[in-house]
Amino acid sequence: MTLPADPNSEKYCPRLGHAVTLAYCVREGIDRPCRLVFRCWEGSLPIRERLLTLYKESEIEGIDAPASKLSTILDIIARAQRTSEGPGAGSGT
Ligand code: SF4
Repeated sequence: MTLPADPNSEKYCPRLGHAVTLAYCVREGIDRPCRLVFRCWEGSLPIRERLLTLYKESEIEGIDAPASKLSTILDIIARAQRTSEGPGAGSGT
């Protein structure tokens, strides 16, 4: 028997740059999980079983598809913005 995944489990999010809960990851898009949910959580807890409590099998197919070029570019831009917003950024005017 597999233990249920605790929705309060936390993991460092490589996209946001801080810890997030499993509850966030499985509902990132309100009606869909984050596209990286398998990459981030597989091996830590029964992520597939958790997703199947929220979505139909057909809805989670393709989640782990390789990122599109656009989403990869948007991730890079978001990371760059976070870096530039760090301590001291923008104070040299
Ligand atoms: S699944 Fe998505 S939101 Fe959750 S930690 Fe991974 S990248 Fe961040």
